[in-house]
Amino acid sequence: MIKKDSASELTAAGDIGGTQIRAALVDRDGNILNESVGQTLPERGIEDAAARLSDQVHEVTSDADGVVGLAVSTAGPINPEPGTYDHPPNLTGWHGKTMKPDLERLTGLPVAIGHDATLAALAETRFGPFKGSQNLVYVTISTGIGGGIVANGQMVTGSTGQAGELGHITVRTDADALSCGVGCHGCFEGNASGPNIGRMARQAATDDPANATKLVELAGGQIDDIDARIAFQAAERGDPVAEQVIRQVIENVGRGLASILAVLDPDGIIVGGGVVHSLQSRWDEVIDAVRTYGLPRYRTRGIPVSVTELGDDVSLIGASVLSFSRFGDPS
Ligand SMILES: [Zn+2]
Repeated sequence: MIKKDSASELTAAGDIGGTQIRAALVDRDGNILNESVGQTLPERGIEDAAARLSDQVHEVTSDADGVVGLAVSTAGPINPEPGTYDHPPNLTGWHGKTMKPDLERLTGLPVAIGHDATLAALAETRFGPFKGSQNLVYVTISTGIGGGIVANGQMVTGSTGQAGELGHITVRTDADALSCGVGCHGCFEGNASGPNIGRMARQAATDDPANATKLVELAGGQIDDIDARIAFQAAERGDPVAEQVIRQVIENVGRGLASILAVLDPDGIIVGGGVVHSLQSRWDEVIDAVRTYGLPRYRTRGIPVSVTELGDDVSLIGASVLSFSRFGDPS
């Protein structure tokens, strides 16, 4: 039995990614008290996923009193108010649909939906090194690069709910710059996401195999099997070709983050996502790159860029913050 002192201190939260659906019972302090993890299986359709998420919500809240509502963080693109998807690349077949009415009916709770990166930014305004901030940006560097923005205390959603596509700002203009999946040449995602780091490393190894021996060796002798993780490992072991690629990635990340600082003047940028685990051992170089490409005022003060401390729970906790703000305030 999960007991809380007040009847309004708990919320249900959901997180829908391309692979997993998570549901959790969360308190106002961001503590996850109960959790259920299932597979997304987007090919079964959004109605099926909504039914399974509802079951997970029932499971995590069954022993709890005073659950104020349910907020769901999801991969996008999505228009958060109606919760309607707009050609989501990892939730194939969900375009133009929303699970909000099904969730309301099946859980009996009021439901709010938000974009995962925006909710991650919201979470970071409540917990972590920039707690209390009114101006914060969350950047995820992973399979893709995306972001969420809180400005003047408000989640920035844009005219169609799709603000925060920070992966598509330009970081390179030279002929070797890569394009991302949607085709913009030289963008942040095209030149620093996990899969694109792999592409850069494969190309570099193909161009200069004599100096890429560790890189190729770590890939079992197969250039085609080189990925971002192997590129970072090879650089760490002194492979000059891999080192050159990782330096270029760090420069690209520095350019991207410096642009975000210039546009939004946030208290800080919090960075998360799988690639950041690899970048952490070279974090000083990332900060130096932001300083190099940032506005002069960042040369005389600290660079306000940190790695998330909330880990993979950041969007789920952001959903709980959204739910409390919508449904949990006494008035
Ligand atoms: Zn792009």
